Amino acid sequence: MSRSVLVTGGNRGIGLAIARAFAAQGDKVAVTHRGSGAPEGLLGVKCDVTGSAEVDAAFAEVEAAHGPVEVLVANAGITDDTLLLRMTDDQFTRVLDANLTGAFRVAQRASKGMLRKRYGRIVFISSVVGLMGGAGQVNYAASKAGLVGVARSIARELGTRNITANVVAPGFITTDMTDALPEDRKKQILAQVPSGRYGTTDEIAAAVTFLASDAAAYITGAVLPVDGGLGMGH
Ligand code: NDP
Repeated sequence: MSRSVLVTGGNRGIGLAIARAFAAQGDKVAVTHRGSGAPEGLLGVKCDVTGSAEVDAAFAEVEAAHGPVEVLVANAGITDDTLLLRMTDDQFTRVLDANLTGAFRVAQRASKGMLRKRYGRIVFISSVVGLMGGAGQVNYAASKAGLVGVARSIARELGTRNITANVVAPGFITTDMTDALPEDRKKQILAQVPSGRYGTTDEIAAAVTFLASDAAAYITGAVLPVDGGLGMGH
């Protein structure tokens, strides 16, 4: 079975590993990008998830090429860290808009085709920080915790239509996002990870492809941590 898969932010980092894992299984994979172009072998659609019209246009493009999206991975995300007292309204709402409202926008748009097909798999990429909190990350943690409520509500609304909605909560994974952290912060984090190392993007991709597989048809509304034990299963 070759499904139509869309990964937001699939042009690099965790999203790209997820997109490549689906492609390796034989699925038809599209990724959104904001101008970088598409990685080789994948269909690239230009889309910033902060705009509903852009989201709609990107889905129309994927539908024309691959058919209605059957597997959606809401992966696009940003950080803008600073301590609570210094955080501006704009810093808070900008991160919420990209990470949480953006995920809502793509899930809502994807659900239309999934309802018609009576089939769908939605996976939201949250974070260990969403459930444990993070100093300097009030905006990011709120956005990532919010995804759990979104997924569980969708699971309840659409469960009888053979549509599942789950959350993967990565710990610290080697990507551009974590490369940007200061060295002492990286050491501090590793000291708390039972596995004693960062995770790889492929380890996140394995969890996502599993949740989208037939074997996971009875799993919905779940949060799957892939964090080397950092969140202790939450
Ligand atoms: P990167 O910073 O490497 O990549 C982020 C991706 O999101 C890029 O593709 C970027 O696109 C895209 N993106 C950001 N904002 C938007 C937007 N408004 N519209 C569309 N696309 C957007 O991050 P990672 O690969 O590390 O992270 C991927 C996801 O995993 C994120 O949601 C992140 O929060 C989560 N995560 C990451 C962890 C880690 O340790 N790395 C840990 C826990 C969770 P562009 O290339 O155009 O900038």
